[in-house]
Amino acid sequence: MSKKKKHPQKTALFVQEGISQPSQLNPNLSSGVGRFKKDRLSVDDIYEGIIGGDRTLLSRGITLIESSLSKDLEEAQLLIQRCLPHSGSSLRIGITGVPGVGKSTFIETFGLNLIRENHKVAVLAIDPSSNRTKGSILGDKTRMEALSVSKNAYIRPSASKGTLGGVARATREALLLCEAAGFDIILIETVGVGQSETAVAQMVDFFLLLMLAGGGDELQGIKRGIMEMADLLVINKADGDNVNKAAMSASGYKNALHLFPALPNGWVPDVMITSAIKNTGVMEVWDKIKEFVSQTKSNGFFDSNRRNQSLEIMNETIEENLKNKFFNDASVIKLLQEYKNQVLNDISNPYEVANKLLKSYYNDVEN
Ligand code: GDP
Repeated sequence: MSKKKKHPQKTALFVQEGISQPSQLNPNLSSGVGRFKKDRLSVDDIYEGIIGGDRTLLSRGITLIESSLSKDLEEAQLLIQRCLPHSGSSLRIGITGVPGVGKSTFIETFGLNLIRENHKVAVLAIDPSSNRTKGSILGDKTRMEALSVSKNAYIRPSASKGTLGGVARATREALLLCEAAGFDIILIETVGVGQSETAVAQMVDFFLLLMLAGGGDELQGIKRGIMEMADLLVINKADGDNVNKAAMSASGYKNALHLFPALPNGWVPDVMITSAIKNTGVMEVWDKIKEFVSQTKSNGFFDSNRRNQSLEIMNETIEENLKNKFFNDASVIKLLQEYKNQVLNDISNPYEVANKLLKSYYNDVEN
């Protein structure tokens, strides 16, 4: 022991001092303060990175737009404005289905096939359950391992905070950033058990519902409304002993679909079967999607759908902005709790206090 203390440099526990190595981190990235503890990049840096297809900076951009901090809001808006002219040219595909139906497996197989055809594929998710306390339906497992290491793929888990509206907004904006980064196929995944699939259907060109053979829709937790939104039903896990069952289910669903009202885009949804694990039927799904795109582009629906989505975005942005302004107004904050208590204790009626709050807000705005 004492020997070691005397000649520390001569023991195997000490490394001979050599030439000091430069840090592997860019020193310019490590001086900032704020939310990005290590590095606060400018909008310009992030924008340039995104346009250059840099996936790390794409992630940084998405983190910025997901932020609810007011100091990030302006930069996020600026980034979106700059990326917008470079967006819009991808094909946006929504994929839903109950947990366990094979969404990740399907997306991985499908995505790898598309990359082989020289596409660049981004995968986004909407999973409003995914906040830190509740745990997530889509994000907890290790997913899409082969796809995630491909340089032509980008996988981003769901924004993890906020209401469904907030998560959906962040995903819609992430989609724009992915397009600006050169991804030409964007897959947006969600679970078919809540409201989130409606939000996804409103931001995609094509909506695909994955199902399992055999189970009735009630059993699969799929609401009829979701089936009505789908442009294609896919019965997955059609392999092994399940092949016949899948074929039977498919013809059952085909009959059921005839009873649904026609889709406004003139498209007749079909039912197909796949094995995501064995990669069978998956490229037939892609052929079907291409058929959809060519049909709806020639009948004008593809573009009119995008324009209606833009209108929806405009309305939502206004609503969200007004709501935020209202609830962050000083006099509203001051009065709100008291008025809430009055309503809860039957002292005041809700209309009366709502009007008082609105009046006080408008007074503030006018002055
Ligand atoms: P998700 O919850 O919808 O994302 O489903 P996963 O992709 O995680 O799949 C759930 C389970 O089903 C996993 O064990 C997969 O290996 C399995 N699975 C997915 N697709 C297929 C398929 O085509 N055939 C079979 N036999 N199993 C599959």
